[in-house]
Amino acid sequence: MKNIKDYNLEELKQEIENIGEKKFRAEQIFKWLYQEKVKSFDEMTNLSLELRDKLKENYTMCNFKILKKQESKDGTIKYLFDVLDGNAIETVLMSYHHGYSICVSSQIGCKMGCKFCASTGINFIRNLSSGEIVEQILAVEQDKKVRISNVVFMGIGEPLDNYDNVINAIHILNNQKGLSIGARHISISTSGLVPKIYELAKENIPCTLSISLHATTNKKRSEMMPVNNSYPIEELIKACKFYLEKTNRRISFEYALAKDNNDNIEDAKGLIKLLKGMLCHVNLIPINKIENGKFTKSSNENIIKFRDFLNDNGIVATIRRELGSDIDAACGQLRRKNLN
Ligand code: SAH
Repeated sequence: MKNIKDYNLEELKQEIENIGEKKFRAEQIFKWLYQEKVKSFDEMTNLSLELRDKLKENYTMCNFKILKKQESKDGTIKYLFDVLDGNAIETVLMSYHHGYSICVSSQIGCKMGCKFCASTGINFIRNLSSGEIVEQILAVEQDKKVRISNVVFMGIGEPLDNYDNVINAIHILNNQKGLSIGARHISISTSGLVPKIYELAKENIPCTLSISLHATTNKKRSEMMPVNNSYPIEELIKACKFYLEKTNRRISFEYALAKDNNDNIEDAKGLIKLLKGMLCHVNLIPINKIENGKFTKSSNENIIKFRDFLNDNGIVATIRRELGSDIDAACGQLRRKNLN
């Protein structure tokens, strides 16, 4: 059956017309789904019983079941959701002084194989649909009775490898008649799928682009991220420059510091050379060691030194806070251990 949450408002109008109803019903349904956050068609009380029956016959609401919920000392919550086909995905809710932020998964598994990432070695199973991406936000809002203001595509999966569904999910999230989460409050993080960065630049969606850079030479980056063999650093930076030219939106470069690997001053110098003059920000992430992984965390002292060196040389850099590390919910720690 079709998932009613897979459609943006325009598509939903079409769907509703196709089952012989007036278009404005789509707006009412949208409001029930995303503003009232109901979990059944029966709760849509301004629709006739006949229409509710028709909806039930044609669509599911895809309400995820919570399989597991782990709460960190710092308030971060990791959810394991049953996506209703025997698979499970992880979603993380983080609370900041300015509101709630959610880290969503875009795929079940990942094809990228980054060596430092806990998703590495997990088989790729499938893309999530737009509705399944949106449902992560709804399910958490329903559970915690909070409003989520920021969405980051930094959970499991490569969002640009599931391009159409991610873009459509953003359209659904954006709609003011629905969840009304502005694109400026949404970040897409990519390991660097160059052709898709060009495509995204032309979308006219003012979301934030995050690039998982992590190294400044092709040799080192390819060792950490096999995707670099297909799209080397020069091509990646060229695509970023095109993105900046088109959107004038600051890019965020993610750089996970691993001890004796990419964390010395020579690496910082490489980063400065690469990013000089670009409208960007560097997010330094203390790398989280994964099981059997060869990369270990850089010392705090070194991370601060690295940051200061970048800042002193005209590159804005900050160190990412590690939320949820006690529940394996911190950056890159989402893993298969819990899945199935
Ligand atoms: N596939 C996308 C999004 C998912 S990963 C991407 O690669 O950007 C989200 C971020 O976490 C990326 O910047 C990724 O490089 C980083 N990350 C993955 N594993 C990590 C680890 N063990 N420690 C720190 N950061 C990690």
